[in-house]
Amino acid sequence: MKKRKVMSLFLGLGICGMLMGQGVPAAETAKYMDGTASALQYQYVSGEVEALQYQTYNMATEKIKDIAKNYKKTKPMAVVLDLDETVLNNYGSEIGDFLDGKPYRSDRWHAWVLKEKATVIPGADKFLDTANTLGMQVYYISNRSVTEQDATINNLKKLGLPHADKAHVLVKTDSSSKQARVDAVAKDNNIVMYVGDNLGDFPADFYNKLNDARKDIVEKNIDKFGTEYIILPNATYGDWDNATFGYNFKKTDAEKIQDRINALKTYNDKEAQKIK
Ligand SMILES: [Mg+2]
Repeated sequence: MKKRKVMSLFLGLGICGMLMGQGVPAAETAKYMDGTASALQYQYVSGEVEALQYQTYNMATEKIKDIAKNYKKTKPMAVVLDLDETVLNNYGSEIGDFLDGKPYRSDRWHAWVLKEKATVIPGADKFLDTANTLGMQVYYISNRSVTEQDATINNLKKLGLPHADKAHVLVKTDSSSKQARVDAVAKDNNIVMYVGDNLGDFPADFYNKLNDARKDIVEKNIDKFGTEYIILPNATYGDWDNATFGYNFKKTDAEKIQDRINALKTYNDKEAQKIK
């Protein structure tokens, strides 16, 4: 799974020292460490995100009931959901790494997945249960790896979620782009809704786009959000962050921080021009 996390950049005094050594002032590094703790606090501890998750899934549940009521096509209806931070809550990886003062690493992520300890995102279970009851196929399209497929299915089963099997849990085989897997599902099903925490979870060509382009695509698809595309909050990691440093995972932590600062300055200046 290609995940790079905000939190991974700001952990531990050792990393602070490293960043300072790379020219990022200590005060700015400290601000970012605070920022990471705040993002985690918002995502996992706050009632606000829990309310947003319930709100989103409540609205999506009502929407699929309406869709099912008026459905006349012959192909089966299907909903496509991402997994991480959409259906599965990976508190233990995100908060665990941070508290241990360790940056994100794929082997630690893998170990977390194999524990099968992810909990369910609030509201997701009711939504999935409703979709299943309405006769919809449920497909989980995730960028978890093939070696994580069995543990992922077990985790979903432990949570009592429907369609937890190899035919419906579609993990990453080659590309992080989900389009090919979406196309495969669409062959035999009519996909009526996509749910994700990352714009890349929606089939509108967001893959590997920079933030301005991502916003442009959002603008072109305004009517789909809340009806066909259902997005959940994720303040701790995602392509919104990867896009900021151009998906260049070889950049140093200090370079990524500089990219973030530059992005904020650019945004600030651009917004300021809007009202004279
Ligand atoms: Mg996700």
